Amino acid sequence: MKYAEIVTEIRAREVNNVFFYKIPEAMTEELMTGMRVSVPFGRGNRITLGYVIGISDEPKTSAALKEIIDIKDRFPVFSKERIELARWMEKKYYCTLSDCLQCIIPKITGAKRIKYVFLDGSEDERRALLDRNNRQAELLRLLEDRDGISLDDIRKKYKIGGSTIKSLEKKGVIKITGIRSSRDAYDTENPNSGRKHTPTPDQQRIIDAVCEDLDRADKKPFLLKGVTGSGKTLVYTEIIAEVLRRGRQAIMLVPEISLTPQTVQRFIDRFGSLVTVTHSKMTDGERYDQWEKARSGRASVMIGPRSAVFAPFDNLGVIIIDEEHEKTYKSEHTPKYDAREIALKLKDIYGATVVFGSATPSIDSFYKAKTGEYRLLELDKRINMKMPDVFSVDMRDEIALGNKSIFSLKLQNAIRETLENKKQIILFLNRRGHSTFVSCRQCGYVMTCESCSVSYTYHSHENRLMCHYCGSETDVPKTCPACGSKYIKYFGVGTEKIEAEAARLFPGARVLRMDMDTTKSRNSHRQILSAFAEGRADILVGTQMIAKGLDFPGVTLVGIVAADLSLNSSDYRAMENTFALITQVSGRAGRADSRGKVLIQTYMPENYCIEFARKNDYEGFYREEIEFRRQMNYPPFSHICVVMLVGEDERKVISVLHYYSTVLEYYARGKNYDKIGPAAAAVSKIGGKYRHRIIVRGQDEEKLRNYVFYCLDILKKKADMRDISVNVTMDPTYIP
Ligand code: ADP
Ligand code: ZN
Ligand code: ZN
Repeated sequence: MKYAEIVTEIRAREVNNVFFYKIPEAMTEELMTGMRVSVPFGRGNRITLGYVIGISDEPKTSAALKEIIDIKDRFPVFSKERIELARWMEKKYYCTLSDCLQCIIPKITGAKRIKYVFLDGSEDERRALLDRNNRQAELLRLLEDRDGISLDDIRKKYKIGGSTIKSLEKKGVIKITGIRSSRDAYDTENPNSGRKHTPTPDQQRIIDAVCEDLDRADKKPFLLKGVTGSGKTLVYTEIIAEVLRRGRQAIMLVPEISLTPQTVQRFIDRFGSLVTVTHSKMTDGERYDQWEKARSGRASVMIGPRSAVFAPFDNLGVIIIDEEHEKTYKSEHTPKYDAREIALKLKDIYGATVVFGSATPSIDSFYKAKTGEYRLLELDKRINMKMPDVFSVDMRDEIALGNKSIFSLKLQNAIRETLENKKQIILFLNRRGHSTFVSCRQCGYVMTCESCSVSYTYHSHENRLMCHYCGSETDVPKTCPACGSKYIKYFGVGTEKIEAEAARLFPGARVLRMDMDTTKSRNSHRQILSAFAEGRADILVGTQMIAKGLDFPGVTLVGIVAADLSLNSSDYRAMENTFALITQVSGRAGRADSRGKVLIQTYMPENYCIEFARKNDYEGFYREEIEFRRQMNYPPFSHICVVMLVGEDERKVISVLHYYSTVLEYYARGKNYDKIGPAAAAVSKIGGKYRHRIIVRGQDEEKLRNYVFYCLDILKKKADMRDISVNVTMDPTYIP
């Protein structure tokens, strides 16, 4: 008798266990580790889906065992390596093994089969019906011209009914067969066979450095820092080509928003049908098809956002993560994995090479490169050798000039000039969700919490300012504490307002807007971008969505309408994020023959982030920023763990959180942990549930994790946790 170790699909923590089941004699041949099965579960023996994560000769339990009911798969959907990965994730991200297994594979929907109609029987039999003049004859004629027509087309396109088809089938002159169809969102069968660029010596140097690493046993991740327009994509494709030459596979991660048709096409042009693409707007069926294409070996290159890191390749050669500084690589849903961390784990499991790429590496990654944990590679010149000219515009002067528009006079003139030259313009607004800050329009002063040096967030329903780090509150001042002016107000403009203002000031210009509101439908993203690429608009107004990866030769002017919006978000990473955004958006200007121009509208041009971004000086910015992090003991000098409690009864949430705080204090036992808060979360109420959180900081990630979870276990035993959910995030991309 053999036994299977099974994890059920039930995702509750209470059933986060491995259960043993008997394998019926008839199944022993067929059943393999990594397959899905159905099993009876619980007292009611409800039929439940389970994942076989091991098979053994002995049950490591004395309980009476139930039997597996049946096997769902013909092949394992998890390799041993994937199960190892899931077990590692379970510990690292504080979730159940079931959560992790379900995160690694897509919903298995099975392949879609489309019914096709083909000719059948002999020609004579058909001719006997042919010669007539009716629907049956019509269909036969159609089929003579073609190899086969889908049942759907016959009904909808040719308007031939089911009875006609049925009677022909009965007569044996046609047959209906299901054909496996792959739901491919991109046409990978038809690459453009355009001229392929030869790498420049700079690009080649980097390609060589990475390829040399492919066979090395002891690998260090690479950090490729390449300015915008330096040709990183060609570097990536050449590395992947070499990996494929060696019979291995490649994963290419890009942030969702830069998963543009343009980017994808570059990979399809190079690798044709070996490419598979995933993105978040796919249906379960489409996602399954792409996964299956990779699993079965029909594809060797997976391109996609965060979740593509789980591509089922078992001879993985390289994982490339472009725009590695992007927040979207970290999942906000359970399991809260970070694709960059998964990539590093896959490096250990498969001996894969890992390349992080960015024009503006995250401070954490650059610190690792500086301290030797990563190997730094640099591309410091654009392919066209022309970095754009970047200027900052001091918006405090505009009020003095009597200009109340959201466009400075300088920006207005630059737009006018660009329109006259028949070039294109991008107007960018980096709007950060709900956080609104309060600033003075006369002197630029921003209301800031002294003890945390992050800006206060304005809460409209209380009409108060709150510090989202320590929880302190204050009234909104009537006049500016710095200069006494009364032009103190909440900052916040929307893309719609910018669009309207552009239309008002430049009546002849054709304006397109791209943001969450205009890209709700499936293809709108693609449509807006191609309209702009084809020159059907002069001005593109947008949010973060238009900041990356776009390569429009016609764009010579970029206007950053309100650079300070993300500068003043209540987050220690505000500077880092703003620097990256300004650099990325600026990078859209002047990528072809004409030199680009960028105008940064700001109330604080002397701020080091704006200043270094204007000078395109990443190193300078890094030196300043890392000093700030060191002084404030923010990452990478510490790790931050956010524990958030969520519940409908706010008083209860607060009191349990305060109790947790005392538990933390008690078990700190003189060790070097500090707490910030408890305080209301940045978004303090969602869907009728209140959110409060405490931040715990420590030096060692693993020790901090253990400490936080140990205290949570104590809390769960001692406090009434009914109707309160716990949410833990390690080193969050922003403080919730
Ligand atoms: P990045 O991703 O670094 O911003 P891209 O990969 O988009 O830069 O490259 C910028 C532009 O330079 C693209 O239009 C690309 O086609 C072109 N390019 C890249 N490498 C070469 C090369 N070796 N020769 C000629 N053009 C190149
Ligand atoms: Zn504070
Ligand atoms: Zn002021």
